[in-house]
Amino acid sequence: MTTVNPAAAVQITGLQKAFGDLEVLRGIDFEVARGEVVCIIGPSGSGKSTLLRCVNLLEEPTAGQVYVGGVELTDPDVDIDAARRRVGMVFQQFNLFPHLSVLGNVTIAQRKVLRRSAEEADRIARDNLVRVGLADKVDAYPAQLSGGQQQRVAIARALAMGPDVMLFDEPTSALDPELVGDVLGVMRKLALEGMTMLVVTHEMSFAREVADRVVFMDGGVIVEEGPPSKVIGDPAYERTRRFLSRVL
Ligand code: ADP
Ligand code: MG
Repeated sequence: MTTVNPAAAVQITGLQKAFGDLEVLRGIDFEVARGEVVCIIGPSGSGKSTLLRCVNLLEEPTAGQVYVGGVELTDPDVDIDAARRRVGMVFQQFNLFPHLSVLGNVTIAQRKVLRRSAEEADRIARDNLVRVGLADKVDAYPAQLSGGQQQRVAIARALAMGPDVMLFDEPTSALDPELVGDVLGVMRKLALEGMTMLVVTHEMSFAREVADRVVFMDGGVIVEEGPPSKVIGDPAYERTRRFLSRVL
């Protein structure tokens, strides 16, 4: 039996995921404490996105448990929509609605999913757009924004739902290099504010500076984890060293 740790923001035990014959996650166990920032690194195809997608049940695990805030998402009786609302996700592709303004993009799920009034959704959207430095863009449309600005709108949209945990899947990988810094700056600020964050990234300088812990994945397992100074600065395993020699 799993011991549920009520202090953990996220707890994953024995997580496996297969697509047909392809075993993508082969038994993942780990916890994220409240307010902790964990960066997940690893080669392409190692299962990083699948792991994040299992944390908000965009993918259904083949085996194992996922708890968010002590609530088991993998329990068949759980109110999955309610549980999922506690988890915000930001993707590599920003997935904004092109026909909606910035304000529309940040209010729509608040209104349709959380049933907030227009006034409340509007106020919360504006507060979160201030948070990501886009107070002056409320009336703009996605096509009028840079990639970095669009990604910050996507972050504001996720924050407006009031999540306990934020998941980021390579949030800067689709951006021109000069726009990466603004997005990482917003994420750094969120981390300092105490947001619990699980970040898949190839930005090793961000991981070094901001992560409390770095997890290196390869072949669907966690190979090693620890403080960035250890995992990035002095890795224990050859597989980690080989990966780092390619990205650093
Ligand atoms: P990463 O994010 O580390 O690059 P992914 O989690 O995206 O890795 O993918 C891990 C493996 O799972 C890859 O081999 C990928 O092709 C496979 N995979 C991911 N999603 C699916 C899916 N929906 N159906 C089949 N195979 C998938
Ligand atoms: Mg991925």
